[in-house]
Amino acid sequence: MKRTWPSDWEARRSGMGCPACSEGRPDRIPDGERFFAGATSDAYLNRDTRSRGYALLFWRGRHVAELSDLDPGELASFTSELVRVCRAIETHYQPAKLNLMVLGNSLPHLHAHIVPRFVDDASPGRPPRFMMVDQDWPPIGDEDYQRQLEALRDSLAPSLPIR
Ligand SMILES: [Zn+2]
Repeated sequence: MKRTWPSDWEARRSGMGCPACSEGRPDRIPDGERFFAGATSDAYLNRDTRSRGYALLFWRGRHVAELSDLDPGELASFTSELVRVCRAIETHYQPAKLNLMVLGNSLPHLHAHIVPRFVDDASPGRPPRFMMVDQDWPPIGDEDYQRQLEALRDSLAPSLPIR
């Protein structure tokens, strides 16, 4: 068997040098700005134009790589915040379907990709196409991006401690 995964994978998966653990709970990550800060997770709206409404929800508790690593209380907190964020995205973007993915093949710290799929999608029956290609995408225009952030923050506002 020829190993294809990085030689330090097991160490990274166990949390060694984890960039998500060391970044704390920033307002901004390279992918975009935070629009939700929950008890145990932070959600960020992707800044580029690959898919409207594409968000990332990062688990902000102790280092874990998998949903199955969470204890029942942690799992309840993470999934309830995930559903809250999903509802806000559904309300604002009105997708045909929401795709949720817990991947972590390059960053093994628990996070969920939340990808709205729209009725004019180029590959409706398939996983998100943009995830299969390596390319740089232009950023969303600043005004448009700020409007989307505001809308998401507003719909999550009742217990939103940021801003
Ligand atoms: Zn971590």
